[in-house]
Amino acid sequence: MTAVPEISDVKHLIGGDWRSASDGATFETRDPHDDSLLGTVARGTAADGTEAITAARKAFDEGPWPRMSPKERAKILHAVADKVDSHREELAHLETRDGGKSINQSLHAEIPRVAHNLRFFADYVSMAANEAYPDGELLSYVLYPPAGVVSAISPWNAPLMLATWKIAPALAFGNTAVLKPSPQTPLTANRFAELALEAGLPEGVLNVVHGFGGEAVAGPLTSDPRVDRITFTGSSATGVKILQAAAVNHTPVSAEMGGKSANIVFADADLDIAVPKSIRAIFGGNGQVCLSGSRLLVQNSIMDEFLERFTEEARTLTVGDPKDPANFVGPLIEQKHLEKVHGYVELAQEEGGKILTGGSRLTDDARANGFYYPPTVITGLTNDSRTAREEIFGPVETVLGFDTEDEALRIANDSPYGLAGMLFTENLNRAHRMAAQWKAGTVWINTFFERDLRLPFGGEGSSGLGREGGQYSREFFTEPRAVTIRL
Ligand code: NAD
Repeated sequence: MTAVPEISDVKHLIGGDWRSASDGATFETRDPHDDSLLGTVARGTAADGTEAITAARKAFDEGPWPRMSPKERAKILHAVADKVDSHREELAHLETRDGGKSINQSLHAEIPRVAHNLRFFADYVSMAANEAYPDGELLSYVLYPPAGVVSAISPWNAPLMLATWKIAPALAFGNTAVLKPSPQTPLTANRFAELALEAGLPEGVLNVVHGFGGEAVAGPLTSDPRVDRITFTGSSATGVKILQAAAVNHTPVSAEMGGKSANIVFADADLDIAVPKSIRAIFGGNGQVCLSGSRLLVQNSIMDEFLERFTEEARTLTVGDPKDPANFVGPLIEQKHLEKVHGYVELAQEEGGKILTGGSRLTDDARANGFYYPPTVITGLTNDSRTAREEIFGPVETVLGFDTEDEALRIANDSPYGLAGMLFTENLNRAHRMAAQWKAGTVWINTFFERDLRLPFGGEGSSGLGREGGQYSREFFTEPRAVTIRL
């Protein structure tokens, strides 16, 4: 393991200055592995949120950033990505300590994806196709000026990866931004902002405020009329509050919210692929992944064989200190969340479910102070149980059986959510048929979690509003303008 960076005092970044909360208040961020204190964080007030918007507004109205050419902005965003790459170990360890994500995932997936987010959107702005319509004496074309000030509100489960999924396109298209990371995982956003300033990002282009939602620091981010776009990732319940606040100023919102995705395994699937991918789809990221395949639908003719292999693999996953690369599953984010996850396992039993493995908190010496919950597999429920309908957001798999393709699709689509779907089959006609009818923003066939940033990303129903990625991010972070000229 590499040396862990010191962290103590996490402040806001407003207009290039590092500041405490206006009333001096702080909150703690703790390590979910052993509940030790990692740092104290500025507990942002509404006044702090308003000041951050003022700084972003000034940088947009008067500063160089929106006036630079896309190539000039791209040069700086590439320099920020280079900084992320050269501080990959440090950022990965911060992320793992703050959120409990396995170090392998932080080091080899999430922090590299942060750099990729920046590089992809830096280049996309110049490379994206544009429209021009010559029509006799008329020539029409489209301009994509930046929208203005962007509020970016992000969750704790993939902190810097999701923050930069918002910040990278917002800045690349010439906007300025105020980022509010989750109070559970504030550390990497600050280190990232420091690196961005070092790489040449002008002051005020990226502002970071810490704290909570509602009337606190996040209030102005959703209700100040000087905000032009709100991009939010988090729970569906919070999403509703943000949409309500944004409606007052008719501020456009992109909302990426919760999920309860179906992972369907047909009898003709290659189980050497389907079993490990299904394991990764629910237990990767400690089960705290919006895209999780948390409803596992298995064709009844292979149920016994599949369940034996799946449960055996779940049982042997290593659960422990996420800083140790030997461990696959780390702790849940906090005590309250652990209680919520375990509450669902108790509910599942009340609903008639049978636990095949897992089902109670791990409290041996090495894990007693952390929020460790084992991979848990539940059978015997139907799709109308609360366990199968509500987002648990932990390492808990609900296994349901089906006989026919129609039945599988009906169960998959019978959910308030519509974020993702996974399908394992060797019958590609069936795969295409089902993908066309699936209520989900993303469908993965014989794979999971592959992301091409040109594709639309988002969900239906309670899973979200709008799409981001490639041209979809351009639609959201700009004000497309039609220009028609008589020649
Ligand atoms: P959350 O909704 O509790 O918090 C998300 C962010 O919103 C935090 O920064 C929080 O402080 C802020 N917030 C809370 N109340 C607010 C308010 N009233 N106004 C403005 N901001 C407010 O979500 P979480 O627990 O941090 O994250 C887990 C959830 O996120 C899960 O439901 C998960 O499925 C979802 N998620 C979705 C995606 C996706 O891409 N669809 C990705 C990751 C996580």
